[in-house]
Amino acid sequence: MDSILRTLQAQQGEMVKMLRRLVEAESPSTDKAAVDRFGAMVGGIARRMQARVRVFPSRQTGNHLRAEFRLGPGRTDGQILLLGHLDTVWERGTIARMPFRVRRGRACGPGVFDMKSGIVAALFALRALRTLRIPVKKKVVLLLISDEETGSLTSRPLTEREARRSDCVLVLEPAHGLKGALKTSRKGVGEFEIRIKGRAAHAGLDPEKGASAIEELARQILRVKQFADRRRGITINVGVISGGTRSNVVAAEAAAVVDVRVARVRDQREIERKIRSLQPADRRTSLKISGGKNRPPLERTRQVAQLFERARALARPLGITLTEADVGGGSDGNFTAALGVPTLDGLGGVGEGAHAPHENILLRELPRRAALLAHLIASF
Ligand SMILES: [Zn+2]
Repeated sequence: MDSILRTLQAQQGEMVKMLRRLVEAESPSTDKAAVDRFGAMVGGIARRMQARVRVFPSRQTGNHLRAEFRLGPGRTDGQILLLGHLDTVWERGTIARMPFRVRRGRACGPGVFDMKSGIVAALFALRALRTLRIPVKKKVVLLLISDEETGSLTSRPLTEREARRSDCVLVLEPAHGLKGALKTSRKGVGEFEIRIKGRAAHAGLDPEKGASAIEELARQILRVKQFADRRRGITINVGVISGGTRSNVVAAEAAAVVDVRVARVRDQREIERKIRSLQPADRRTSLKISGGKNRPPLERTRQVAQLFERARALARPLGITLTEADVGGGSDGNFTAALGVPTLDGLGGVGEGAHAPHENILLRELPRRAALLAHLIASF
């Protein structure tokens, strides 16, 4: 059997122990102090593995963490970026009603799947490479940012700078489905707000003097929905609406928040143009559009396909039949792929229920995915 896999499988208990520590150190995106504590914990583990650790302070969000590993003898040539995030969508205190638990070969708990198991897989992969003295020609940088779940607004420049220096980016986000497919295509995501100003009036005495912002918003929503195109992979969701004050007042204000997802860069520009050029049907109302694209799509370019093929070939001797998937959710891999840096996403835990109370991972996949990651790192 493969020596990396054998080593990691013997460490499965240790991996679960670390996973428990990481899950129990809650790290919601919205709680800077908590994310920073968690980042310091992970930074400490990396330091004990002889990594050079650097913290990038961020005022609005948690700090970002960069750990650099040199695993080869002598000079390194090039860089591999392992990309992940420290934050979760779970508020502090969730652990009390959703404790870390191991049952029937699975582990559950807040953030176990998205993506603390990915962090554990990366750390153990690097440790196995070191203890087995497997030469790695490239420098390995583990970049864990703190605001992924809120759109990566403060970390994006850091991620892009590090990606530009790298020969490839391996993203530690969860795999897709229980078969653990890698993500070779992800949709681009945008968020827009449509705000309508109308004219208030008494609904009984002089309704004709009013111009209803709510009615105008309803028309605009139906119009926006027509921009969706299932075949081209364009989806539109009006997820939030608000407006009006009371039933007997013609509404002076209304607003909607719209989520837009596209499979192609070209469509992202096109949809944005269409939304920005919406015009009011009732001329007495006015319309204000804000927001825009957040993440570009991760397109399955030739480079992405080649990287997937490399992973698939390395997975076979480990007994993993690797498949690929295209998914609607975006990650920071979308940023790096858009720069033209070969990016492979979904190399973290195998499980289900991201952002849901039943979030869990399959424990036997943990050493296997770590082994795949180690082989990928050593293959460059
Ligand atoms: Zn994630």
